[in-house]
Amino acid sequence: MALMKAVVYRKKAGLILEEIPAPEVDDDSVIVRVADTGFCGSDHSLIESGFLSDGTILGHETSGVVVATGKNVTTVHEGMKTIVRPTFCGKCRECLLGMTHLCGGARRSIGIGDLPGAFAEYIKIYPQMAIEVPAGVDSQNAALAEPFAAALHGIRVAGTKEGSVLVIGGGAIGLAAVKILGILGYKPIVLSEPVKEKRELGKKLGADFLLDPQLDNVITRGRELTGGIGFETILECSGVPDNISVALELAAKGGSVCMISIIFKSITITQPLNMNFKEIRFTGSYSNTHEENRICLQWMAEKKMDARSIISDTITLDELPFVYRERIQSGKAVKVMVAIGDEF
Ligand SMILES: [Zn+2]
Ligand SMILES: [Zn+2]
Repeated sequence: MALMKAVVYRKKAGLILEEIPAPEVDDDSVIVRVADTGFCGSDHSLIESGFLSDGTILGHETSGVVVATGKNVTTVHEGMKTIVRPTFCGKCRECLLGMTHLCGGARRSIGIGDLPGAFAEYIKIYPQMAIEVPAGVDSQNAALAEPFAAALHGIRVAGTKEGSVLVIGGGAIGLAAVKILGILGYKPIVLSEPVKEKRELGKKLGADFLLDPQLDNVITRGRELTGGIGFETILECSGVPDNISVALELAAKGGSVCMISIIFKSITITQPLNMNFKEIRFTGSYSNTHEENRICLQWMAEKKMDARSIISDTITLDELPFVYRERIQSGKAVKVMVAIGDEF
């Protein structure tokens, strides 16, 4: 049996590099040789939660090349460049409502779900999970289609089409949102982020105004920047519970607040009457659809965006356990890209 390198989560030791059996193709599956895999904020949360089972291989922001297909596989071919998203059944209530990413039937996924993830040299997936990478898109951009699609999905869930927007939090998703909001024509785009390097990246990606919540009064400045009206759209990407009240305070009448970050703690809404008096739509978004990934790949192919601009660290698989402790756990890295196999 062929062996491969993978970074495995161990209850006692955390992330460690191991040699494990490489996955083997069966009639219905596909084997992908991994090129690049991004380290996601949710990977960090899962490790810190203590709920992750021993032996888990994380990693879902990935790109690679198909190297083997089972005899029943017709839609995917060897040599195809691909990214990977979860399966969906197409028949359950959620799928029929167009929310295939929330499928309650047969959702299978790598890294976070039931299948081993892509901090490994090879992964086994099912054909429905493969989304072909168009010509002109490199493997690092392709691996980041997923977090950009997550930002696009949050904007779509917010349900607005244009106008002023406040992005709270300039981590990978907040920065991706800034870029996409620019492509979609929102203006002005305001980013609130305490870390200087992240604010500067936000500026490069198209933010019109930057706020530092440690120095600026975000509520006062937000009102000034919108002529007292407040923001049509607010995207919460910081994960800081208190920012929900800030968002509701700063939303315009009829405005929309979408929580893209996943907050595990209780939140207190200081002025619930904001929701009534301003008729705010307050919602949350989760994951993203195959279609949204295709849109992001297309923007990459058209050179409308280069997702590599959010990468702060490019490392090897061997370096991941160390870099996790030094750069990810401490929040120093924006986006760590793990270059695993042959890049394209
Ligand atoms: Zn992710
Ligand atoms: Zn379904």
